[in-house]
Amino acid sequence: MRGMLPGKTVNAEEAGLRKGKPAAKKAAPEAEEAELLFDKTYICPVCEREFTSKTVRSGKAFPDRMDIDLRSRYKNIEPIKYRVVGCIRCHYAALDVDFSSPLKREVDAFRDSSSEIRLDANCLEEVRSFRDALLLLRAALSISLIKGSKNSERAGIALQTAWLLRSMGEQQVKTEPEETKPEEKNAVSFAEMEQKYLRYALQYFVKARQLEDFPIRGMDEGTFDYLLAALCYETGQPREAHGYVTKALRNREINRKLRRMAEDLLAELRSS
Ligand SMILES: [Zn+2]
Repeated sequence: MRGMLPGKTVNAEEAGLRKGKPAAKKAAPEAEEAELLFDKTYICPVCEREFTSKTVRSGKAFPDRMDIDLRSRYKNIEPIKYRVVGCIRCHYAALDVDFSSPLKREVDAFRDSSSEIRLDANCLEEVRSFRDALLLLRAALSISLIKGSKNSERAGIALQTAWLLRSMGEQQVKTEPEETKPEEKNAVSFAEMEQKYLRYALQYFVKARQLEDFPIRGMDEGTFDYLLAALCYETGQPREAHGYVTKALRNREINRKLRRMAEDLLAELRSS
């Protein structure tokens, strides 16, 4: 017991025990989350260091419904927390799908920049808090600007950031006891920040549509137009949303599930 408690006196021990309770409660979900992760090996494309990054075991995340903007929800974990991979030697970071494949000019641009971004080893190697995940996504977005990435890569990071902020707002509503509801100020700011990142995502995706070839971020044209429609709708631009959703519905290749989502969105736009 003694070794576990920092204090020496009885009072400190009491304090330790009082503190111990919530900590023990907190440790359980963390341990549960750790069970859903594994260490995936990466080689840094900038400094060639080999390292591991926590990754969600896809078979262990239970899918739930999907949001209007194609965010997949999971019942037992928020996988977005683990989407950023970062190297603590050279402080390069990107989304998992982009990490290993920057262009040479992007690597050079990152090396030549005197970037002040510093990644925290604790954020990268263990179960991640939402806050740390948000810091990592912000770092990845800054690095994508430094290295001059494609618009679609930036859009992808901005969209993941918006989704994480949505998740944070929902977590807060769930975990906060009734009596602390006046603290809703924070929930509002999560929603406001989410809006900001949805707009970034939309802005970069629109540029990507003009400049890049399909598939973009793994999306065919129909899926992409549907996503643009959803982002316009979420950011209060119904006319633009209507334009994109109509375009998506005219696309013969659009799959059945997406067609249904597009029809629902069109109905929603017509009724509001
Ligand atoms: Zn590195």
